[in-house]
Amino acid sequence: MEGVLVTGEARAALEGECVRCLEPIDDEIDVRFQELFLYDDQVTPGEEPEDDGVSMLEDDLLDLEPLLRDAVVLALPFQPLCEEDCPGLCVECGARLKDDPDHTHEAAIDPRWAGLTALKHDED
Ligand SMILES: [Zn+2]
Ligand SMILES: [Zn+2]
Repeated sequence: MEGVLVTGEARAALEGECVRCLEPIDDEIDVRFQELFLYDDQVTPGEEPEDDGVSMLEDDLLDLEPLLRDAVVLALPFQPLCEEDCPGLCVECGARLKDDPDHTHEAAIDPRWAGLTALKHDED
């Protein structure tokens, strides 16, 4: 009666990077949306709702862009991952742990003893 109810589905390509290992992510996202667009003759001239969240038809046309943008942005993962259990990067060397899960480093020298390595070098 007072407008046109729009229901739809959209698919968009996602590009980003994993928050843990920075691998590029290529994915797709599917969103559904629904919105009531009011006829613009429902509004008394001079009392047009500006930005109060009401969608209006404009001369029998409707602008889907804000609707699509909101639907997609809300559906985006907050922390995108290349895969569910991405192990991230090695804190020592920055290697991607998924490519090289078994790599190890020699035990780091306890900073309290670090001065001793300098002494040893002097001896040489
Ligand atoms: Zn990752
Ligand atoms: Zn490492």
